[in-house]
Amino acid sequence: MTCPRCGELNPREAESCTRCGAIFKPEAALKAQDEYIELRKAIEELRRDIMELRRIVENRSRYEACLDEPEVQQSIKIPRERSWL
Ligand SMILES: [Zn+2]
Repeated sequence: MTCPRCGELNPREAESCTRCGAIFKPEAALKAQDEYIELRKAIEELRRDIMELRRIVENRSRYEACLDEPEVQQSIKIPRERSWL
């Protein structure tokens, strides 16, 4: 079958074009649609994971910035000095 999109000559039984992926048969279209839905779900999960990781990194940065504050440094030192007594 000659692909109507790109002109590639494909085997007669081909469900889709080996060159551009154009779909020739309805079953292949349904399969592609299912794959598309699965990919959309996977992308959405990855998006949520990225947002969660960003939140963790931001919280950690805030936490580390907080440790540099003189008042925090002071409060960290006091318990250590007391523990030596
Ligand atoms: Zn093609």
